[in-house]
Amino acid sequence: MEIKKGIAVSPGIAIARSLVIDSEDYRIPRRSILPSVKVIEVKRVRDAFKKAVAELEKVDSGENIAEGKIKDIFAVHLRFLKDKNLRKKITDLVYNELLTAEYAVSTTLRDIANHFASVQDKYISERATDIYDIEKRLLRHLLGRKREDVGHISHEVVVVAHELSPTQTAGFDRKFIKGFATDAGGRTSHTAIVARSLGIPAVVGLEDVTRNIAPAAMVIIDGNRGVVIIEPDEPTIKEYQQHAIEFERLERELDALRDLDAVTRDGVKVELYGNIEFPHEAEMVIDKGGQGIGLYRTEFLYLYSETEPTEEDQYRAYSEVIRVFGNMPIVIRTMDLGADKFTQSRRFVREPNPFLGLRSIRFCLQNIVLFKTQLRAILRASVHGDVRIMFPLISSLHELRQAKMILRDVMEDLDEDGIKYNSNMPVGIMVETPSAALTASILASESDFFSIGTNDLIQYTLAVDRGNERVSTLYSGADPAVVNLLRSIIHDANKAKISVSVCGEMASEPEFVMLLLGLGFRTFSLAPPMIPEIKKLVRSVTVESCNIIARKVLMMSSEREVINYLRSAAMKVLPEVF
Ligand code: PEP
Ligand code: MG
Repeated sequence: MEIKKGIAVSPGIAIARSLVIDSEDYRIPRRSILPSVKVIEVKRVRDAFKKAVAELEKVDSGENIAEGKIKDIFAVHLRFLKDKNLRKKITDLVYNELLTAEYAVSTTLRDIANHFASVQDKYISERATDIYDIEKRLLRHLLGRKREDVGHISHEVVVVAHELSPTQTAGFDRKFIKGFATDAGGRTSHTAIVARSLGIPAVVGLEDVTRNIAPAAMVIIDGNRGVVIIEPDEPTIKEYQQHAIEFERLERELDALRDLDAVTRDGVKVELYGNIEFPHEAEMVIDKGGQGIGLYRTEFLYLYSETEPTEEDQYRAYSEVIRVFGNMPIVIRTMDLGADKFTQSRRFVREPNPFLGLRSIRFCLQNIVLFKTQLRAILRASVHGDVRIMFPLISSLHELRQAKMILRDVMEDLDEDGIKYNSNMPVGIMVETPSAALTASILASESDFFSIGTNDLIQYTLAVDRGNERVSTLYSGADPAVVNLLRSIIHDANKAKISVSVCGEMASEPEFVMLLLGLGFRTFSLAPPMIPEIKKLVRSVTVESCNIIARKVLMMSSEREVINYLRSAAMKVLPEVF
């Protein structure tokens, strides 16, 4: 039995055998070889190519490949694999530069894929996917590892991977995938967020768990404490089965709060909304007692499909959510692509600093056709309910004005086409960059509402990558820098008389809720499964006591001091959730 400690990102207990998978984005490290083995290493490259060609020729001649399209794809792959120049390029890297076969294959093919992906022509840019498949095939032969596929599981497993993308995680079949553990990741990475939304127990940031867990090993994932137990003994399994029963009992108890108001003991009303990634999650928000959608992460529609969703696809998705919510508010955030969320065709466009790169609203402002298609779909859907639109990652007034100008253009197009929309639809922004926080009073004058994205706000304020396990201990909402920014944003929003909510993960962490209430926040948007717990907490406190807590925290000078104080305060109120 071995116990590994990681970062708890999604609560619950999972006990099942492991499915260890290759991660799609696993990067082969650059490693050198000794000159004495370079001939052997070149032979490994040649053998991998031979095996890959033989494999494809076998599949190609198989009777079950009747589909012309599939045949064509394999023919393209075969042509690549038989290309002497490509092979030479790779073997030269091994022979002359003394690099491993795996690295030479991976770096060469990824360079080609990047090149393809950056071409404007859609047909060519989509060929990047083929190159990626070829890379995977060759690596599989080099590493001698059988690639297991999460898409075809028919028994219960816990997934173990180096890293999982938000898209992979969103595709998990809840019936069979009971939990997951990864080497990489942080508490507010989008993969973690998806896990919480789906209610899949998960522990990330375990660093080397893929090396420690053999395929089909018995594994316990404790998403409450951030612990993974490999090959547990019988008493440990029994103990965790008991924990799982307890956890479910607590969940049921909390679900009973569904129809009660989120009101503090001294009568202050708090609004609790849900964050969703997909339309089908809307029902869960209602089930958990949410009063609307505070953040609809629309980019997941793009992440999930091989081709770009059309205006009609998007209109249908938004209308589906509106149908569930009737007249309750729905905040549709325009696509927040980039950083750790890529469309199929852009997954190879690597940037040196993706979180500081062409992401989110910046990407939209450079891809106006794509942006306008989405705005049209949102505007068309706006006639069916209380739809509000929100722009992510605004970092200057100029950007907000540009986004609003494009929105106005789309409105004019709709007018010309005689299509109805709500011309008074509220237009808000996410405050999630330090520049937006520091200029909140300026941005407030041209925004109808603010929603604070603490996940990004923390990462940019503290200069700590939210998804990097190596700096995860430095990532904290309790840092005085973050607390001061939050206070200043709400001050500016109140002064401008615009509403302000918190939709980052801080709103779903019990230790922060009293601080947020004390700072004056009254609207939170969170992963649907977390709504009941936060409601219980809200119903257990008084605003008066929260004000005292906030005042004390604002006097503190270190993150440790703040977090210890907040934890002990929340534990006194709600010991059962800790
Ligand atoms: C945030 O940054 O806090 C946020 C809610 O947006 P996302 O997590 O999608 O970046
Ligand atoms: Mg964000």
